[in-house]
Amino acid sequence: MSKSKVLLIYTGGTIGMMQDAKTGQLKPFDFKQLTDQIPELNKFDVTLSAISFSNPIDSSDMQPSVWIEIAKMIEKNYDKVDGFVVLHGSDTMSFTASALSFMLENLNKPVILTGSQLPIGMIRTDGKENLITAIEIAAAKENLPAGKAGGKPVISEVCIYFEYQLYRGNRTHKFNAEHFQAFQSANYPVLAEAGVNLKYNYSALLKGNLPAGQAGGKKLKVHKALDANIAVLKMFPGITQNVVEAILNAKNVKAIILETFGSGNASTQKWFIDALKKAIDKGIVILNVTQCNAGKVEQGKYATSAAFKKIGVIGSSDITSEAAVAKLMFVLGKTSDKKEIEKLLKSDLRGEMTV
Ligand code: ASP
Repeated sequence: MSKSKVLLIYTGGTIGMMQDAKTGQLKPFDFKQLTDQIPELNKFDVTLSAISFSNPIDSSDMQPSVWIEIAKMIEKNYDKVDGFVVLHGSDTMSFTASALSFMLENLNKPVILTGSQLPIGMIRTDGKENLITAIEIAAAKENLPAGKAGGKPVISEVCIYFEYQLYRGNRTHKFNAEHFQAFQSANYPVLAEAGVNLKYNYSALLKGNLPAGQAGGKKLKVHKALDANIAVLKMFPGITQNVVEAILNAKNVKAIILETFGSGNASTQKWFIDALKKAIDKGIVILNVTQCNAGKVEQGKYATSAAFKKIGVIGSSDITSEAAVAKLMFVLGKTSDKKEIEKLLKSDLRGEMTV
């Protein structure tokens, strides 16, 4: 039996950083140095190849243009390998995983994002385990021993692997900047846990569209048009009319994520509802996303969200803010038809929300 092939795509992040001797700041370094730090990679029963960004970045510098670059790398190599591991900083990993999930339609192979909280060169690094297990997951096939090629991949979606847990990427949120367990997926179960064995939660996985044990299925479609003309308006008690109107009237903005309280609630002040209505009448899309980590938007449950339903704010169930940002950019890049935009935003496209 031949070995599974996995392509590593190195974008940057703490995993590959070193301390600058002069300033003491952490900065990305090149991929060769990264792999030199992990001799274990040579023992892998998987055929590994790698592409590195020529200028690896801290993921806080992430841009939609880089998401497009990653998606193009996946498209170019899609038929050559069994799975992908994307090395990425943890700060914006949830945004990138969400964006890739929307951009890669009909995905039939694993795309696993991982990184670390401590650089790979540090003795207590979490990067080695994260990378090694992410590779194992990217290589895994149903009913075959680890690392063997052929058959159906166990994972056919974009995931994040971090600190012994595999998550659906577009359900995650970075909630901790200190602990090795940096991510949470409050509204969707973990897809796998790595202990002595790798235990997959099969019933929670997206199925892909490959017939069991066969090649083929629907062809991968890579969406490369993203429209970043969006804004996030986060509610807080005391938010002023000036601030709300400045965001609603910002130049070129086509859609706004309204980050509300609890199950989708916000102020009932007349000026606020009037300002939202005016924006909607002008053609701006407003998506109601909760500030809570868990639970969902239910417009009309309380009197404080009843007006939203009436004026045409779109409720977005239990989507995360990160996935909502990526979904809006994807949907606006795909169509300018208001009905179609609304339909897509209300639909579960890649397992990102419960409908
Ligand atoms: N600032 C880093 C980044 O996101 C943090 C990390 O990698 O965990 O690139």
